[in-house]
Amino acid sequence: MVLPIYAYGQPILRQRAAEVEADGPELQALIDDMIETMGVARGAGLAAPQVGQSLRLFVADLTSYADDLADDNDGVVPDYAREPLVFINPEITLDEDAPEVDVEEGCLSIPDLRETVWRPDALRIRFLDRHFVAHEWPVAGPLARVIQHEADHLDGVLYVDHLSPLRRKLLGRRLKAIARGDVEADYPLAFAE
Ligand code: ZN
Repeated sequence: MVLPIYAYGQPILRQRAAEVEADGPELQALIDDMIETMGVARGAGLAAPQVGQSLRLFVADLTSYADDLADDNDGVVPDYAREPLVFINPEITLDEDAPEVDVEEGCLSIPDLRETVWRPDALRIRFLDRHFVAHEWPVAGPLARVIQHEADHLDGVLYVDHLSPLRRKLLGRRLKAIARGDVEADYPLAFAE
C-alpha cells in the first residue's frame, strides 16, 4: 500500500523517533509499504517518520546507482545496490577522517527543492535488517549519503538544517509554502493541520 508522505511542517518530522522494540506482522507490513512508497515516489530513501510512524527505521534504494557503482567495482554491482535495504535501530559512527563532499540532496517530505549539502563520505553503521539480524557495515559514497540523510530523520533533523543560515533564510518562503500545502508532487502528501 502506498502511504502518504508527511510534508515539511508536520511536527512528527521534528521528533526523535523511538527504538523499534519488537518484530511482528504490523512492522513487516510497514516495511513493505515504505519500500512500495519509496518506489512510487522514486526516492533513494524513506524514513518511518516520513510516513507518520515515529520509529527508528528507514529504507534505502540504491538500485538507480547500480551502473555507476559497478564502474567503481570492477564491473560488479555491489550487493547493497541490487535491492531495497532496510535499517532498523541504526547506530552510525561518522568517519571523521573521510573527506567531506558536497552533494545535491532532495527529500520526499520537501518536494521540488534540491540543495547542496556537505557531509563526510564514509561511516560505519550498525543496524538490524528486517529479519532482526544484526550487521555492521563500513559504508562510503552514495549509500553513506543516503544513510546520513535518513538517519537524520530519526532524530528530527532535515537536510535543510545543514544549510548556511543565509541559505535557509532565502528558502524560508518556499518552505512555508510547502508547509501550507502549496506544492505539487506526483505522490500523495500529508500536510500539517
Ligand atoms: Zn528526507
